Amino acid sequence: MFDKILIANRGEIALRVIRACREMGIKSVAVHSTADADAMHVRMADESVCIGPPSGTQSYLSIPAIISAAEITGAQAIHPGYGFLSENANFVQIIEDHGLTFIGPSAAHIRIMGDKITAKETAQNLGIPVVPGSEGGVPDIAAAKKAAADMGYPVIIKATAGGGGRGMKVALNEQELTTAFSTARSEAKAAFGNDEVYMEKYLQKPRHIEVQVFGDGKETGIHLAERDCSLQRRHQKVFEEAPGPCITPEERAHIGKICADAIGKMGYSGAGTVEFLYEDGEFYFIEMNTRLQVEHPVTEAIFGVDLVREQIRVAEGLPMSFTQDDLEINGHAIEVRINAEKLPNFAPCPGKITQYHAPGGLGVRMDSALYDGYSIPPYYDSLIGKLIVHGRDRTEALARLNRALGELIIDGIDTTVPLFHALLQEQDIHTGDYGIHWLERWLEENQPG
Ligand code: ADP
Repeated sequence: MFDKILIANRGEIALRVIRACREMGIKSVAVHSTADADAMHVRMADESVCIGPPSGTQSYLSIPAIISAAEITGAQAIHPGYGFLSENANFVQIIEDHGLTFIGPSAAHIRIMGDKITAKETAQNLGIPVVPGSEGGVPDIAAAKKAAADMGYPVIIKATAGGGGRGMKVALNEQELTTAFSTARSEAKAAFGNDEVYMEKYLQKPRHIEVQVFGDGKETGIHLAERDCSLQRRHQKVFEEAPGPCITPEERAHIGKICADAIGKMGYSGAGTVEFLYEDGEFYFIEMNTRLQVEHPVTEAIFGVDLVREQIRVAEGLPMSFTQDDLEINGHAIEVRINAEKLPNFAPCPGKITQYHAPGGLGVRMDSALYDGYSIPPYYDSLIGKLIVHGRDRTEALARLNRALGELIIDGIDTTVPLFHALLQEQDIHTGDYGIHWLERWLEENQPG
């Protein structure tokens, strides 16, 4: 059993992991940059170590600094949270070489899923349905034209090493393809240091449906149903819910079983998410994330389980604390992502919080590292909080979201909260009638904030 875990992250997710550790009687170590000396995760952890200057590359992404912090404090395991080093196979390898445990899947599984082409091939071999697309990478424009002609326009060009919604370009016809192809490649090179791209059929009105999976690293794979994360801006999720409002129990059981079986066959260890686009009753795999997702709390709400606790258990070599048969969906949960951004353009808006009040009451969870007087540093992601609500059904969850948003006070900076107030006025949000392009279109016609 671990008695001390280091958390290689910051913000709300670092708090999330510290909370699980505390409930399990495990000591926690926070790491932080000089810009985060006053951050909540530093205050809340049992110990903390400064690992570098503000820039992420020199602190939260510095493998030597993090390993040293673990060695100095005697932590036996490292939880990566999401983002930063959470999907870095090299980091996992180095952790293991130092005799420490990475709380997450093996370096090999991270590597396979981190390359989107190998990920798709692996998924296909495991019986998971995939989006029609190019066979592997597309080396030049001639190959791109051929692939597009074969699958039919519109097409989407995606970076093999992609993530976070970056490096993707849509082409509606052959003229657009030439520009889109070279832009996608140069963006991929700039963002990921790798200009390899591949192509897929661009689905016109899909929903984003993702299946939460868990493996014990042996041969057991479990699924915890799906989340619908169709409300996206620039391919980034802003509003997530579980279960998916349009997924039938039969579809859930079908796709869930496919994913759980695949995880079991892989011998996958820990939490993962298999992401699909869903259109006209069909699921199309797009990628697998080999980590805890930002939106994991909606799944926790409907199943009443602690996914971080399960991650720690599995990393310790223990079985998961539930079986597939133990899992039963209870009600409906919704999460909204609150960013320090100024509407309507979503411009980053760091600064000092003059007043903070978190909503509470039945079925409300606020995951945030904010506090009165805290200064949000300008160096990191703009996510500052996640408001999660749970109700007996979707209607109750939406009413609760409305009520909780009304109680929330974040003064001193601009946030994306007004976006959610405005969305709750929309009929489509109440009927659940939206695909992945709905929000972009709505934002073109509306100026929230
Ligand atoms: P990332 O790893 O950057 O998040 P994904 O492959 O998961 O990239 O895709 C992110 C989002 O981009 C999806 O949720 C969807 O909105 C859009 N997208 C990706 N592939 C397609 C496709 N083939 N057709 C339509 N939209 C797509």
